[in-house]
Amino acid sequence: MIDAAFAVAGSLLMIAAYVPQVTHMIKERCTAGISLFAYSLWSLAAAILFTHAFMIHDAVFILVQGFTLIATWIITFYTWRHPGNRCPIHRTS
Ligand SMILES: [Zn+2]
Repeated sequence: MIDAAFAVAGSLLMIAAYVPQVTHMIKERCTAGISLFAYSLWSLAAAILFTHAFMIHDAVFILVQGFTLIATWIITFYTWRHPGNRCPIHRTS
């Protein structure tokens, strides 16, 4: 039972960490401080780990890596599509 609590807590933290970045990026088309190279690699790593999660039939791992894969794809796409774009808040910093 405690292992399920850790799985839920870890999954929720993972999602909570990505949501503000992704929503800001989509809403403002702002790619301030985002490395296309780093997110491309994280996307590839997430795809590999997602495949591994399916191979070992681990539901939590599939869920977390599936979400990570989608989030890193979105961030990579927006960074590629809007390179150097800054929202008014990040334009001044
Ligand atoms: Zn911004």
